[in-house]
Amino acid sequence: MALTETALIERFFRACGAQRADVSLGIGDDAALLSVPPGCELVATTDTLVAGVHFPIQSPAVSIGHRALAVNLSDIASMGARPAWALLALTLPRAEEAWLAEFAAGLGGLAREHRVALVGGDTTQGPLCVSVQLLGVVVAGGALRRAGAQPGDALFVSGTPGDAAAGLALEQARLEAPPEKRDYLRERFLLPTPRVALGERLREYASACIDVSDGLLGDAGKLARASGVAARLEFEALPVSQPLVEAVGDERARMLALTGGDDYELCFTVPASRLARLAAELPPRAWGYTRIGTVLVGEGAVVVRAGTVMEFSHSGYQHFT
Ligand code: ADP
Ligand code: MG
Repeated sequence: MALTETALIERFFRACGAQRADVSLGIGDDAALLSVPPGCELVATTDTLVAGVHFPIQSPAVSIGHRALAVNLSDIASMGARPAWALLALTLPRAEEAWLAEFAAGLGGLAREHRVALVGGDTTQGPLCVSVQLLGVVVAGGALRRAGAQPGDALFVSGTPGDAAAGLALEQARLEAPPEKRDYLRERFLLPTPRVALGERLREYASACIDVSDGLLGDAGKLARASGVAARLEFEALPVSQPLVEAVGDERARMLALTGGDDYELCFTVPASRLARLAAELPPRAWGYTRIGTVLVGEGAVVVRAGTVMEFSHSGYQHFT
């Protein structure tokens, strides 16, 4: 590498994230020292993005940096926790300054937005791969989990799932759309919005929560399995964005909302007794979430359309040819 590892870290990563008073020792030593507030639990998660697997090789560096943190923020959000500190393990084929500057801008912009400090990491040479570890805090015993949904609870999802899957298909030229629609959908893939503020507020209302990364239907199924219940989704209730409907039609938009990936939305359940308070205190329009179904006795996740259970093949739905 033209740039030494130390120079690279100094230049692009030392001041990349937020400054926080609870970081006693950040980048520069052998490990970071962090203070967890009394009465809180440490929440830890990690996710890796491999070039050519989790993003197209030619993705803009700003998107790679943003997504590497966003996918982890989404996991912390789904726990109802507040993100605080990140570590970055970066494997690069070569130290290209323009690429690194863009990458650091993508990661750092989102980190500062959520007051996340970058407190350490590792830099190695090899095929492009970005791994972020994110630590957060939550009041002890207060985290949301996948388990906890009860029959009778209402089922919700944030945002408009399906957009990111269409955005990725556009990126990879497996789908075509008019320019205005294309820009919106591509951005939903390239720069997803982790629902951190919503997740944290949901601790007061939700009985269970999961983040939607592998497709709403599959992830609702995981929540149901962990809770020992069934999830019933209403096809007609699925929130689909106007650009998605205009790009692929209503039918395909709803299939993508169910089975597309990379949404980084929250799927959560709320007991009937808390629904009125939820609607009053977190208005669905302002907070961007929609009721999509109900929790029942049983197992698995099903989609009901005009009163009939839809069949999904094991191989999943074929989005694009
Ligand atoms: P060591 O060899 O002891 O692991 P390094 O020379 O790899 O130390 O790293 C020096 C410092 O820079 C450490 O504090 C480490 O956490 C940090 N660091 C290394 N790579 C990154 C990176 N990509 N992003 C943020 N911090 C990094
Ligand atoms: Mg090291």
